[in-house]
Amino acid sequence: MLTAGYPSDDRVGFRPRLGFGRRLATGLSLVGCSIGFVIELDTPLTRVVEARMAKRLAERPLGLVTVADLLDHLPRRYHQRGELTNLRDLVEGEVSTVHAKVVKHESRQARTGRRFDVLTVTDGTAQMTVTYFNPSRSPARRLPAGSVAAFSGKVDRFRKQLQMVNPETNRLDEDDESDDPDRWARALVPIYPASEHVASPVISRSVRVLLDTVAELPDPLPADLLARYRLVDLRTAYELAHRPESRGDVERAHRRLKWDEALTLQVILAQRRRAISAMATVARPARPDGILAAFDGQLPFALTEGQREVGATIQEELAEPVPMHRLLQGEVGSGKTVVAVRAMLAVVDAGGQAALLAPTETLATQHYRGIRALLGGFGRAGELDETPPATRIALVTGSVGARAKRAALAAAADGSAGLVIGTHALLHEGVAFHDLGLVVVDEQHRFGVEQRDALRARAAQPPHVLVMTATPIPRTVAMTVFGDLEVSTLTQLPAGRQPISTFVVDAAAHPAWRDRIWGRIRDEVAAGHQAYVVCPRISSVAVGRDEEDLAAAGDDEASDAPRRAGKATERPVTIPAEDGSLAGAGVEELLPWLADGPLAGLRLAALHGRLPADAKDSVMTRFAAGELDVLVATTVIEVGVDVPNATVIAIMDADRFGVSQLHQLRGRVGRGQGAGVCLLHTEVDGDTPATQRLANVAATTDGAELARLDLGQRKEGDVLGASQSGRARGVRLLELLKDERLILDAREEAARLVAADPELVAHPGLGRRIAIALDDRPVEFLEKG
Ligand code: ADP
Ligand code: MG
Repeated sequence: MLTAGYPSDDRVGFRPRLGFGRRLATGLSLVGCSIGFVIELDTPLTRVVEARMAKRLAERPLGLVTVADLLDHLPRRYHQRGELTNLRDLVEGEVSTVHAKVVKHESRQARTGRRFDVLTVTDGTAQMTVTYFNPSRSPARRLPAGSVAAFSGKVDRFRKQLQMVNPETNRLDEDDESDDPDRWARALVPIYPASEHVASPVISRSVRVLLDTVAELPDPLPADLLARYRLVDLRTAYELAHRPESRGDVERAHRRLKWDEALTLQVILAQRRRAISAMATVARPARPDGILAAFDGQLPFALTEGQREVGATIQEELAEPVPMHRLLQGEVGSGKTVVAVRAMLAVVDAGGQAALLAPTETLATQHYRGIRALLGGFGRAGELDETPPATRIALVTGSVGARAKRAALAAAADGSAGLVIGTHALLHEGVAFHDLGLVVVDEQHRFGVEQRDALRARAAQPPHVLVMTATPIPRTVAMTVFGDLEVSTLTQLPAGRQPISTFVVDAAAHPAWRDRIWGRIRDEVAAGHQAYVVCPRISSVAVGRDEEDLAAAGDDEASDAPRRAGKATERPVTIPAEDGSLAGAGVEELLPWLADGPLAGLRLAALHGRLPADAKDSVMTRFAAGELDVLVATTVIEVGVDVPNATVIAIMDADRFGVSQLHQLRGRVGRGQGAGVCLLHTEVDGDTPATQRLANVAATTDGAELARLDLGQRKEGDVLGASQSGRARGVRLLELLKDERLILDAREEAARLVAADPELVAHPGLGRRIAIALDDRPVEFLEKG
């Protein structure tokens, strides 16, 4: 397309300049280059580029402060001039990218009085107009006549003239080091993530100044590693990434830079593992004649093989004077609770106490009841029906009555309660343990590391820690996000589990399907079963912050899409809307409508965080006892709630939930004799990321597969932490799914490096890189699920 016929200089009307050195005077100058000091990765940019420029680069959102910041600010993509379309060859209706020079810049006024910008641009083959509405934000402001830019957008025609309206616009640097037109056409033009005040070419120029200044960079990766994996050195990698001559250059650069990211991360994790294993704690060996043995003897079911194996591993680790630090992953319903209870009992047998932390009050209370029932007389020391050997179970939540709470706290403090169950209320000052030996964190994704640390601080010596999660996490993510935890996985479900069928109720396309939800629920209830109806919020009208909102806003899980549990609107939603839509309804709107309409005659009740604790309690108890048919609830039922007779769950506005939330919710059914049904209601029309998520959830009940599907559609930054606001520091290039091999290799290399040289004395460059990473991004972030 653009071979010899590429616009010659005079057609385009500008001549690529020789070298760029002359440009330095306009934006940048070198300060004390090469002589006087050595440039390192953490050298401030103020020492390398002109102060004014350094200040602009340092401004948010770029925030580029050090040499490493700027060098790591990699091009978002590259334009190859020769691959671009000639203006002459543009086809109406197609999306194209052209490189062109601005020849006229006008600001016009529409009849409505609104202003807009019109550029006339040319590449020498033809002319085009480029129109930007919304002048205050228009990129045209930075494109005076004479400037050159890449315009990407849909081509249309206005009064016979080709035009693009509001195209994506990247201003380009007109100067180039080469006056060879062929080379010029072949060259890759880096396009940088830019800000309103600092355009891509400015960054490009700063980087070039920097690269030309920095002749050598200390390489943080050990030389033998570079050789073994055939990686280019760091200086070369930056050169190839910022000034590539081919796509191959970019690939080589990326592979090398991914190694930096992966190795840094894995070394940090290896060091943490090492630090944990260097801590001393009290060994809690199991006893053959304790509560655990007695408990095992009267379990109403046989443990699955997985439960037995994980149990044995945990017991071995508890018997060591080194704190256990283990993640127990298991599909929803795989029976993690009994594994945890057995670990807790082993610790109690060894004279210690165990705490179980649950993310919500509902779940804490349910755990308390469930575990009390499971333990029977063994959990009732001091009560009439005590069966020795026995201990006591205490429940500490925000809403336990004052007297009961005092008793629970006393039992925790004097050690008479071997098991202490609670929400984050357990973490508050004033909760003391006699001898805390084990902390179990259930449904870990709701807990940040701060909370875990707070609990750890409750014990004289660091306790053993068992983290449980049903959030499906692919292996490389587990290795990256929970890389300092050893991982066990329960893959089997207990025998007799029923399959769950999932259907997307696409109400926008099939309005009649709405009624089928209610029909299905009536059928199940008629067959003696029970149902959940889940809404994204309590009410369409906002009132304060609720437990659900808190959960939604809390430290979010590793592999969930951003939660859109739904901002409540100003006005209450009337349902159904004129067109029959049920969108936006909260529990408070849906319940009365169902009770008077589609589900009239059934026994319905609401469950959500704004109810008083005793009301919540009574609803749960009645539902568990079969005295209610349908629970209309928020996500309070998301985790752990266990009523085997419930066979159908309808999730309203399911498009507002993340994948792992939906998977968790679905796990509420299929726990008993009847097959489970999950109905994902949505009023969203068409093919959107949200509807794609629903299709994924409907396609498989395999959590790991689901995590894979979901991760494949998301950015790494989302996976590693929502707090990273679009820019995952430290991990920019790594793709946790695609780079599995590299991550595994890096993990191995990191383990070897740290084993041989824990403080990395022999690798000061790597040590420095790690210091920067840790400084930048607190370790909490790595641990946060
Ligand atoms: P989750 O892993 O999702 O936390 P739970 O621990 O809540 O799952 O277990 C779900 C249900 O399965 C509970 O009712 C529990 O009593 C039951 N269960 C656990 N292990 C077994 C087993 N080995 N055989 C039969 N039922 C089991
Ligand atoms: Mg559970």
